[in-house]
This record gives sequence, C-alpha cells and structure tokens, in this order.
Amino acid sequence: MPVRETVEPETTVDVIIIGGGIGGLTLALTLHRAGIPCRVYEAAPEIKPIGVGINLLPHAMRELASLGLEASLAARGVVTSEAVFFNRFGQLIYRELLGLAAGYAWPQVSIHRGDLQAVLVETFRERIGSDRLMLGWLCTGAVQDERSAGASFVETGTRQSLPPQRGDIVIGCDGIHSTIRRQLFPGEGEPIYSGVNMWRGVTPWPPILSGSSMIRAGWFTPAKIVIYPIRDRIDAQGRQLLNWVVEIETPNYANWNWNRPGQLSDFLGAMSDWHFDWLDVPQLLRSTEVILEYPMVDKDPLPRWSFGRISLLGDAAHPMYPRGSNGAGQAILDARALAEALAASPADPVGALAAYENRRLAATARVVRTNRTAPPDAILGEVFRRTGDQPFRSIDEVISREELVAISEGYKRIAGYDQDALGSAETRR
Ligand SMILES: Cc1cc2nc3c(=O)[nH]c(=O)nc-3n(C[C@H](O)[C@H](O)[C@H](O)COP(=O)(O)OP(=O)(O)OC[C@H]3O[C@@H](n4cnc5c(N)ncnc54)[C@H](O)[C@@H]3O)c2cc1C
Repeated sequence: MPVRETVEPETTVDVIIIGGGIGGLTLALTLHRAGIPCRVYEAAPEIKPIGVGINLLPHAMRELASLGLEASLAARGVVTSEAVFFNRFGQLIYRELLGLAAGYAWPQVSIHRGDLQAVLVETFRERIGSDRLMLGWLCTGAVQDERSAGASFVETGTRQSLPPQRGDIVIGCDGIHSTIRRQLFPGEGEPIYSGVNMWRGVTPWPPILSGSSMIRAGWFTPAKIVIYPIRDRIDAQGRQLLNWVVEIETPNYANWNWNRPGQLSDFLGAMSDWHFDWLDVPQLLRSTEVILEYPMVDKDPLPRWSFGRISLLGDAAHPMYPRGSNGAGQAILDARALAEALAASPADPVGALAAYENRRLAATARVVRTNRTAPPDAILGEVFRRTGDQPFRSIDEVISREELVAISEGYKRIAGYDQDALGSAETRR
C-alpha cells in the first residue's frame, strides 16, 4: 500500500483542473508539491492506455525528474540516444546525439502515451488521492465572480447534470478541442489543417540502428516517416515496440474525423520501394495491426489565456504541429510556471494567472510558429529542395554540417531545450 504524501496547504488557492491529460495531471502533481490543493475533472470514464508514442525531450524530463518520475518513465520507455535523418533513398543526411548521450543532464525518453499516462495517474493517486480525480465528468463551461470560480459538468455517458463545482480558479487543460477555450473565444472555429495528413501505428520489431535512434526519413512528397522505439525487450526475441508516423502532403483533407482507423492502402504506395539496408519500411508498415489516421493541425496563437480566475494550459492554450516533439513538453513547462506563479502570489490568484500568461504565452507562440516554418525536420525539406528529390553522391556537396547543426540548434533554442538553457550533466543539481 503506497504511503499517501500529506502536504499542508500553505495557501487558500483551490484549483479546479479541467482535463486529466498530460498537462492536467502534471499540473496537479506540480501544484501538490507546492502545497496547493487541486481537483481534476476528466471527461473519459476511465483512463485507458490509448494512443501511440511520444518523445519527452530534456526540458520536459527536467520537470518530470523534479517530480521524482525519471526512473519510472525511463524504465517503461526507451532512453533515446540519437536523431538520424535520411532521404527517401535511405541515404544518411545528418546524425546527432540526444539527451544523456549528448551530455544533457536529463534524458530524452520515448514512451508509449499510455505508459506516460499510467505513471502520471498512479503518482496522482498515491500523492493526491483518487478522490481528487473525477472520471466521467464532462465540463460544459466555467463561471466566475469576484471571489471564486466554478465549472459545470454532465456525466459523459448519460449527459445527465452533475453538481457544479467551485474553487478559486479554473484551468482549462482540456486539449485541442477545449470547451473552456471555446467559451473564452467563441468565434475561433476549428483547428487549422496544415495540408499534411498522418498515419501512425506501433509494431513489434527487432532493434534498428542503435536500438535507441529517433529516425526521420523522406519529405512530405511523396512521403516522410518518423520511427522510434517506445518499449524495450517486449518478447523473448528481444524485440522492441516501434512507433511510426507517416506524413504525406494531402491537400483538401475532406474527412474531418479525429483518430479514425487508417488504411494501409492509402499511403503504402508512396513508400513501396523504401527497402533500405537498415530497414524494410513496407514490411514494417504491413506488420502493423492497427493504423490510426490524424490530420496535422494547429491553431493560431491567442492574444491572451487568462480572464480573471479562468485560464488555459497545454493544447487548450497552444496546440501545435507535432513536428518538434514539443506539445506535451510545453504543457509540462506551463505547469511549472503556473504552480510557481500561484505559490508566489497565493492571495492574488488573478495576478498569478496574469503572471503565468506573461511568462508562457509569447514563449509557446514562438514554438507554434516555428513548428510551421522551421522545426527539426526542416533539415529534410532543405535537402529535398536542393537535390530536386534525387539521390546525392555526398551530403557535403548538398549542405554543410554547419548548416545542418544550425537548423537543429535553432529549434532547440526556440523550444527551450538547448544545452545553454538546460545545462549539462555536471550542472545538474
Ligand atoms: C501524432 C502526434 C505526435 C505527438 N508527439 C509528441 C511528442 O513526441 N512530444 C510531445 O511533447 N508532444 C507530442 N505531441 C503533442 C502532445 O500529444 C500534446 O501536446 C499533449 O497531449 C497535450 O496535453 P494536454 O494535456 O494539453 O491535452 P490532452 O493530452 O489532449 O488532454 C486533454 C484531456 O482533457 C480531456 N477533456 C477534453 N475535453 C474535456 C471536457 N470538456 N471536460 C473534461 N475533460 C475534457 C480529454 O479527455 C483529455 O484527457 C504529439 C501529438 C500528435 C498528434
């Protein structure tokens, strides 16, 4: 039986968190550490291990490590050691070390989304208590007056009203289709389609390259693939669980249906001759049982997140293209900033929400915009353009190592995980 950590609240701020995803649960754990009470209201009736893989970069791992979660995340996932970029002919363009292997104080961890969610939920239940995680509570809106804030709910399955809840502030951590955001910005409309459609899946497979490589190959025309392992040694043959995402330029995406099952025949043709000496891509794709399809979307950065006692966090505040492994990471950074702002001004929650917004809005807007124009895979686009999508004799004739490093390092600075910002292994406290 786990020992339930008891923390004496040092403030009277009582936080209502809408959404028990990566952002909402990390916020709850970070508030709890600061002695700030909270409750999480999640629409899903149960927390199921759904979805595929996710990368936690060193800036996100720094926060999760400070919550004592590094060992359990690293044990369930794979500590990623390198990024490798190839063209669609399987020729190596660029290789760089990542996380601990690159000298960071914190690892990069590639993990199944369900495993990450499980670690967060288990820790929540141990430290904060199951009675503070309400499942099947679908939020329908938030209200506030000068002294408090509250939210209304219906039961997810039956749509029957549940008792309204009151606290001091309400934080919408309810993802890209946020009800709270829609209430604050009623005219905003649907997410913006990028022109790229994605198919993704997970496949048991023998380790490829280093066994801890994050691989990107090709470009959006005819196709790009991202592959990385998210579980190690899943069977007696020592196979891993590989996560893959295929991204293809698809103008006029008509079937606006989230997470619908995908068809192999819709994209395999674009990659039928990708037989590399390090991987047979069509064979990997054919070996996948369940394929999901998902349009690459984001939203324009908002002018503000905080309205008095109500604010936004994570994808509800700043949904971004998944081209830099940063959506969840930025949600985790938001959680730290919000907890620190509330701890600094417990008597002034409205001021704290404004301070949180000041610290995080412009920083995350830069990541949203850079994911559109110059994320790490811009390396692949640059080589695609310079070679006219043809094989090269030597990559040095196409692009210099300095240019490749500049693209990669430029993104790290924007997203806040360059080594200057985070420090190296020697500086870890
Ligand atoms: C293909 C793909 C790959 C990605 N890869 C990465 C990666 O490698 N690294 C990375 O950092 N990020 C990645 N991301 C982004 C990342 O998944 C998101 O940024 C992250 O999940 C955001 O967390 P969140 O808690 O804000 O939202 P979510 O994880 O969406 O959680 C929102 C929660 O709110 C609940 N909810 C919704 N509405 C309501 C309501 N009305 N009432 C109550 N509850 C509600 C939902 O059920 C859900 O549990 C990727 C995204 C995609 C699509």
